[in-house]
Amino acid sequence: MATKSKFQAIRGTRDLLPPETALWNRVEETARQVFGTFGFGEIRPPIIEPTELFARAVGGDSDIVSKEMYTFEDRDESSASLRPEATASVCRAYIEHGMQQLPLPVKLYYIGPMFRRERPQKGRYRQFYQIGAEVLGGSDAPAIDAEVIEMVMTFFDRLQLPGVQLEINSIGHNADNCRRGYVAQLKAALEKVKDRLGADSQRRMESNPLRVLDSKLEHEQPIIETLPRIADHLCDDCKAHYAAVKRQLEMRGVLYRENWRLVRGLDYYMRTTFEITAQGLGSQNAVCGGGRYDGLVELLGGPPTKGIGFAIGEDRLILSLQAAQNQSPVTSRQSLDVFIAWMGEHAQATAIRAAKDLRNAGFSVELPPIEQKFGKALERASKLNSLYALILGDNEVAEGSWTLKTLADGSQRKFTEPALLDFLKDSRD
Ligand code: ATP
Ligand code: MG
Repeated sequence: MATKSKFQAIRGTRDLLPPETALWNRVEETARQVFGTFGFGEIRPPIIEPTELFARAVGGDSDIVSKEMYTFEDRDESSASLRPEATASVCRAYIEHGMQQLPLPVKLYYIGPMFRRERPQKGRYRQFYQIGAEVLGGSDAPAIDAEVIEMVMTFFDRLQLPGVQLEINSIGHNADNCRRGYVAQLKAALEKVKDRLGADSQRRMESNPLRVLDSKLEHEQPIIETLPRIADHLCDDCKAHYAAVKRQLEMRGVLYRENWRLVRGLDYYMRTTFEITAQGLGSQNAVCGGGRYDGLVELLGGPPTKGIGFAIGEDRLILSLQAAQNQSPVTSRQSLDVFIAWMGEHAQATAIRAAKDLRNAGFSVELPPIEQKFGKALERASKLNSLYALILGDNEVAEGSWTLKTLADGSQRKFTEPALLDFLKDSRD
């Protein structure tokens, strides 16, 4: 096991190592593949952005910005931050590159690390990874909301993520006859039960009453059940939009559960919100959060723009997949096809050529850098879990007849060079 070293990864960060990284790559390739079939292109925004971008987009009062951001002074004395999320960056890029001129909507996805100075625990890190997508510009047709959700569900389905549950809600829009009216009533109702609420909820009641609905505190649950619900206060347009989103989900065969307590705390979030949970994650079981944010691009200085998106927590997605396969990250090995056991002066040149041909054909090949006795070489080949060992000594080279050993059963066969390649290709299919 690892010995304690002088340097260790910073708290809340970690090394992702083989063979686990193979799973990360499979997840990311699947995302690229599925999102591509829905017409999304990849964006790779920078990891540092002006602090002000997040203060605006995520909100200066939010925990993320006020407490959790890694912020530093850049050379020109402007303030920069490591991104805590990427929606703000995508919207900035949309404006900066005049993407409203492109055929709308613009559909973008991203994959990469985010940074939040949170208390580390299972499924919660200070450097974590998100896979997200945004649809910007064009209309706010309910079919867009439904298709975005269908895309995430298709992705999870493709990965066979266990116990996937989709919850949806509509939080209306920020107007007196809609959410603002509701929040006023919610606040009034909260005033009446204030004494029975915990300190967090009492604080949120003032700063952001919707957030009280997020509370996980046991003793607050029966109180929250009695509070007014937003569905009864949506304006006609938002009500119709929500009904249509549900219809569109049904047309796509996407199963959902409605959760009236699912909210987003920021003003520009509106209408559709959703969250997806998965199995095997304990209390950190949300693997995806998303919603509509029609006001955000304008808030950042761009034109009025419709927008909807989601962010998947890739670390949690991986944890859930691992729990399902009951596969500890270190038990499965990286696959090695051929270990070339070479010995002798002429053999190395042939071994190098053989390695090149095999690799070009897509096999993974281990070529020892220095000569080894065959016994030692075969030992190492089986330690590396190689499928085959190719034995090349001066005799084999001179005769043009190569020996291939199947390590699982120890059987050996002789091949000419071209026949060997054919045999390996056939046995792969
Ligand atoms: P949570 O309630 O779990 O803190 P959040 O509301 O902060 O989530 P979002 O900002 O909506 O999460 O991010 C979307 C997803 O990113 C979450 O559903 C989660 O899977 C993942 N995520 C968020 N913060 C972390 C973190 N510190 N470590 C690992 N994953 C995270
Ligand atoms: Mg959080």
